[in-house]
Amino acid sequence: MKQGPELKRIEDNMRSGQLAAHQFLGTDTRALKDIILHDQLLLEPLGLTPQDIAERMLYFTEKAEENLGPQLIDKVFRVERQEHKGDIPCPFADNSQASKSITQVTNTRTGKTVSWSDLNIHLIAEHGFFEGHGAPFRVDPVEIAEVLDIKK
Ligand SMILES: [Zn+2]
Repeated sequence: MKQGPELKRIEDNMRSGQLAAHQFLGTDTRALKDIILHDQLLLEPLGLTPQDIAERMLYFTEKAEENLGPQLIDKVFRVERQEHKGDIPCPFADNSQASKSITQVTNTRTGKTVSWSDLNIHLIAEHGFFEGHGAPFRVDPVEIAEVLDIKK
């Protein structure tokens, strides 16, 4: 994971640069490295890594892409995808970009729903970044682990 001056420059670009409109940091005033570290610490007691979370998100995203409209996966998860045109660049300036399409999953046992964009999967897998508090597309690591029933 990138640290130091590079991470500060990325943070500045998210807060007030070209990417500010995407609100990756929401209302969060903590430094980017602290946001990433804190979410990592939330996952540690669960024995999970950001990569475990991203892998499970990708699993449902790929299922959702196979069919239009809602479907039930593994008898428990109601999955639906909303296609949106256009791509968002990765704010970590690694020349990656991902579509704006949204995957929504409801755990029918608990009634709880989570959703994410394709970019969230990249941000979590590659950068351990779940976005800041108050960000429109923040993924809460503990909540998503529960809703998607992610276990080590
Ligand atoms: Zn990236």
